[in-house]
Amino acid sequence: MEAKKNLEKILVTIPANVKLLAVSKTKPVEDILSFYEAGQRIFGENRVKELTEKSQKISNDIQWHMIGHLQTNKVKYITPFISLIQSVDSFKLLKEINKEAEQNNRIISCLLQMFIAEEESKFGFDYTEAMQMLESKEFFSLKNIQIEGVMGMATYSDDMLLVRNEFKTLRKIFDDLKRNFFINKLEFSEISMGMSNDYKVAIEEGSTMVRIGSMLFGKRY
Ligand SMILES: *Cc1c(COP(=O)(O)O)cnc(C)c1O
Repeated sequence: MEAKKNLEKILVTIPANVKLLAVSKTKPVEDILSFYEAGQRIFGENRVKELTEKSQKISNDIQWHMIGHLQTNKVKYITPFISLIQSVDSFKLLKEINKEAEQNNRIISCLLQMFIAEEESKFGFDYTEAMQMLESKEFFSLKNIQIEGVMGMATYSDDMLLVRNEFKTLRKIFDDLKRNFFINKLEFSEISMGMSNDYKVAIEEGSTMVRIGSMLFGKRY
């Protein structure tokens, strides 16, 4: 695999202020190291077991992101080392992350995963749920988490108009949450949206971080 070439090919299409998360799920550690050598530092996984095993095998200065649905009973395995949990999809999960972060003496960065797609199978908050959480006293008492923005997945579709509208929705959710709850919080700045098939549209709609797997590592089987 030509890691360096693949990486460069994508990097020229991404503005300098947009971060690239390399999604390495199902791919071996050797592939991750090839991209590391090519200069990539942020990698994402969607399963706790795989993420934990890979992070233990690689001691380099990689920032690991969790991007898949996270069960509360597995939070403890990733809290010692995780750099950003992008897939916070319930208040219950956020409270568990806070608890484990406290035990590890850490403040853990999180994104709120918002439900924007038409597919019911996808996870995430709707706006009202997120609002109710952010308004609550209990949320204010969580001292070991930091909300840095939102994440969303568009419907898996060739209909780029549909996909674009879903990204527009996420952008609007970000703006509304920022205005209502995070106005003075500089760290609330990330809109994580865009994957291999739709990242260009996502960037046009205001993405600050694209999550790219197959275009970098090749198809998953
Ligand atoms: C797998 C995955 C990606 C990357 O998908 P590709 O189509 O391979 O780029 C991005 N985000 C999430 C949440 C994923 O699970």
